[in-house]
Amino acid sequence: MENKKRRVRFAPSPTGPLHMGGVRTALYNYLFAKQEGGDFILRIEDTDSNRFVPGAEKYIIDSLKWCGIYPDEGVDAEGALVSVPSQRHPHAPYRQSERKPLYRQYAQQLIDAGWAYYAFDTAEELDAKRKEAEEKKETFSYNYATRGSLRNSLTLPADEVKRLVDTTDNWTVRFKNPENEVVKMDDMIRGHIEMNTSTLDDKVLWKAADQLPTYHLANIVDDHLMEITHVIRGEEWLPSLPLHYLLYRAFGWQESQPQFAHLSLLLKPDGKGKLSKRDGDRLGFPVFPLKWVNAEGEVSRGYREDGYYPEAFINMLALLGWNPGGEQEIFSLDELVKLFSMEKVVKSGARFNPEKAKWFNEQYLRAKSNEELAGEFDALLKASGISYPMAQLVELCGLIKERAHFAKDFMDICPYIFKAPTEYNEKDVAKFCTPENKEILLKVFAHLEKLPENLAADSPSHLPAAEAVPASEEYLTGYIKENEWKMGPVMNTLRLFFVGEAKGLGIADIIYYIGKAEALRRIKAGLERC
Ligand code: GLU
Repeated sequence: MENKKRRVRFAPSPTGPLHMGGVRTALYNYLFAKQEGGDFILRIEDTDSNRFVPGAEKYIIDSLKWCGIYPDEGVDAEGALVSVPSQRHPHAPYRQSERKPLYRQYAQQLIDAGWAYYAFDTAEELDAKRKEAEEKKETFSYNYATRGSLRNSLTLPADEVKRLVDTTDNWTVRFKNPENEVVKMDDMIRGHIEMNTSTLDDKVLWKAADQLPTYHLANIVDDHLMEITHVIRGEEWLPSLPLHYLLYRAFGWQESQPQFAHLSLLLKPDGKGKLSKRDGDRLGFPVFPLKWVNAEGEVSRGYREDGYYPEAFINMLALLGWNPGGEQEIFSLDELVKLFSMEKVVKSGARFNPEKAKWFNEQYLRAKSNEELAGEFDALLKASGISYPMAQLVELCGLIKERAHFAKDFMDICPYIFKAPTEYNEKDVAKFCTPENKEILLKVFAHLEKLPENLAADSPSHLPAAEAVPASEEYLTGYIKENEWKMGPVMNTLRLFFVGEAKGLGIADIIYYIGKAEALRRIKAGLERC
């Protein structure tokens, strides 16, 4: 078993957008498989037509692709799930709805072997049973204790069963749990688990009404047929594990039964409860990889649209519930593949920290070259109709990248580099627009008119910022010192004129990036407004 090539699957149901917890499940599956050159399979579990949401399957595929998690089987180059078997996709189709005719025989196999039975109870009859139990403050279960008094093939005569199966279509096939037996299970994360079968419901495996299997049957049959070696999934599936063990036994597939690992939940930032789909919009951070618009037109934010790099998102997710030990926190996908180990996946819930998520993005942003960042910034500027010379943009990115979490922050850090202020901060006007400062600024204006052209970036012969900025700073501060003016008020008045308030980058930086001509224009405009 251990020596077999690892084959894992991510098996989402297309019932809505993929939550970040789901992406983490896919990621851990991927890392676990790739570590040993195994296969990562994407299977769509869409047998519950009541919960089917149009667009969800495409969303899942697009999300995985954005994250760089490419399935080996299940998706073709265009992102559609493969329907026809091929060498690369030998187990096609990968959408359970397209595998529909396959499951019936497996339900039959279990019936023939005495591991399952037909149940004919109507929804109304079962509801009545539930109500009856509720009145006695009990919970109704279809199980070893009750099935002997319900309408099924264990209680009805054989010819009546045959008649009902042949002529009606609202019956189901239920699993027949053994009575009072201990199921012994092993989980790669949680260790050994035991469960008495008498606590289990006889779950529905197949429904005549839509000729479809339920999750349990389809999931086990497909894991078997697709030769899955390890099932790594969320802990919400742990209660289903005894049934899944029993199903492997009932089919006689124990030899090839996969190993199981159930991942702990992602918790809300305050640690109180599961991180839910609604938390993102409520608490102001994304919980989905990509933006999602539901049928009512309501929009949920996505990591991608919020400006996260997929590498940062994946890195952050990997560490939510897996701890490699040591100080290092930044890992590429390749490094994660090498280092991941199931032994280091934590048993307890992992608390999501939105600030830490931003921190990860910031680290990735800082690690990028100024050229790369300038490319991103340029695209954002162009989208708002601004064009700015690339060479200076590269230098500017070097200057401001330490202050940004996301590339989209660049504009907010220094909008005044691209557009003159249209308003001035009132308080700063009151403080700095004094007759004395105006007189000084007139002189500063005249001095700056003589600023050597090569110290401002709009000149064709400009020096790089690293040389030009200190030189023009010296040119300006030397002049202020010479005249024995106070440095603070003069610089802040200049800032008010350049920025619109007494804040922002260094004055010499601003002059460099807006250019000498624009700097003079803004001082002039400031003096007129003051
Ligand atoms: N279709 C199930 C889901 O939506 C898959 C559970 C499993 O991996 O077994 O999560």
